[in-house]
Amino acid sequence: MNTPLDDLRAILGPDAVWVPGAPASPDLSGYLNDWRGRYQGRARAVVRPQDTHGVALTVQWCARHGVQIVPQGGHTGLVGGGVPDATGEQIVLSLQRLRHVRHVDADNLSMTIEAGCTLAEVQAAAEAAGLLFPLSLAAEGSCTIGGNLATNAGGTQVLRYGTARELCLGLEAVSAAGEVWHGLHGLRKNNTGYDLRDLLIGSEGTLGIITAATLRLYPRPRSRQAAWLTCPSPAHAVALLGRARRHLDAWLTGFELMHRYPLMLIAQHLPQQASLVRRLTGEDSEGHDAHGGLEVASPHAASLRAAWSVLLDAASPQPDAFLQAALEALIAEAMDEGEVCQAQLSQSDAQYRAMWGLREAIPLAEKAAATMVKHDVGLPTSRVAEFITQAQSALQHAYPGCAVVCFGHLGDGNLHFNVQAPSDMAAAIFIGGHEPQVNRIVYDLVQSMNGTISAEHGIGQLKREELATRGDPLAIEWMQAIKRALDPDGRLNPGRVLTP
Ligand code: FAD
Repeated sequence: MNTPLDDLRAILGPDAVWVPGAPASPDLSGYLNDWRGRYQGRARAVVRPQDTHGVALTVQWCARHGVQIVPQGGHTGLVGGGVPDATGEQIVLSLQRLRHVRHVDADNLSMTIEAGCTLAEVQAAAEAAGLLFPLSLAAEGSCTIGGNLATNAGGTQVLRYGTARELCLGLEAVSAAGEVWHGLHGLRKNNTGYDLRDLLIGSEGTLGIITAATLRLYPRPRSRQAAWLTCPSPAHAVALLGRARRHLDAWLTGFELMHRYPLMLIAQHLPQQASLVRRLTGEDSEGHDAHGGLEVASPHAASLRAAWSVLLDAASPQPDAFLQAALEALIAEAMDEGEVCQAQLSQSDAQYRAMWGLREAIPLAEKAAATMVKHDVGLPTSRVAEFITQAQSALQHAYPGCAVVCFGHLGDGNLHFNVQAPSDMAAAIFIGGHEPQVNRIVYDLVQSMNGTISAEHGIGQLKREELATRGDPLAIEWMQAIKRALDPDGRLNPGRVLTP
């Protein structure tokens, strides 16, 4: 006799339904455990339809059989949003086979693409049309555009181009009842009632399943350059950000801040990057041609051991020489003001990529180093320096000897502020017994400065209770009402974002 899963297999095709432990299924652990190794789930099946119609049929099957759905893209999310629960009753609905580029409209600067395309594939499709899709993050080889939109991903170019939300013009999505909403269009202006696109973006799979998107494209810049700058303090880095905005205006595309400690973790755990770390942070007085970037050293550089680095990214429609001149003028002024101790400008694409490679290696080095209590906070840029000082001091008071891995997208006021256990405490004890207290210290301070507890990673299951207790009560009530209206049976990613 056919089981319900056999029926689903008959509807979608033999390769579309994998059952954990079944002889015909591959190892499914990658679908059930998260990237950080923090959440492990179980699932009745991993279901992989190949088009929007297949997604709709899957959702209708789930409605008939009372099965809950956990949508999943590249499974690089950092808040446990795409991990099924422990019951083994939910299905993982993977969008990874929806991979077509449906249409590029160069005159409209837009592109319609399916949800399972990786971000790198989206960027490549734009490039093939001579255009730019600017969303960029370290996980871009694996994360999908559907996941980027579902989490409203940020990344490294938000300062100039905005988050995934600002880069999306239209959506196609499947509702909790299995109907298809056709909201794909390439319009910049469309005031026809409530904005359902914006409702779905950032909803983390709890309101609908994104199957395709029309994305906003940009002309490709003619020149681009990165500068690695060392700064004495976050306050100097914030002053430098203001100066960079004034000098470069729209040419400023990214502004990343990194403390020396995460760079030391790279040197320790990713030894192939160690010499570049030393070279860029000015801690290596020899081997100056190891990287080969154009070096601009301040007279006080030798006497200042700069604890902070900034990676500044700039792009321009003008030839290289204009951009380089603008950067050199900025750096000279910033050095005179004591904001920058040492500076290196990328002089080739390889050097540009090497600098970014180092920044993007931080999550990998961190993962290799230790399990930490992680935070992805957003603050007004004007409060960032004060936050770092006060949070460091409060944490040292509560947990003497703890270490903070502090880095992030300073241009967006977004810091990753991850706390590592003191050396005399096991990581498991720190996470298991002290995480709420560490969170309280960090989030109380964030809230007192009018910030947010989730700047770009979302809520998932990791921050659900924090949202419930710290969120504006009316906002939570409205969110619950929207959830009930769009998903009355609580079938879509239950227990994520909102408490059930
Ligand atoms: P998944 O992890 O598969 O899913 C994330 C959430 O979206 C889940 O709740 C899931 O249910 C839901 N979902 C997925 N696809 C769909 C869909 N089609 N329809 C409806 N719901 C869906 N994030 C940033 O914002 N900025 C960064 O700079 C950044 N850097 C990172 C660096 C590393 C090394 C890693 C591992 C992660 C990083 N992330 C970053 C987090 C992560 O890459 C993003 O959250 C990304 O947008 C997730 O995409 P995904 O396809 O992997 O989604």
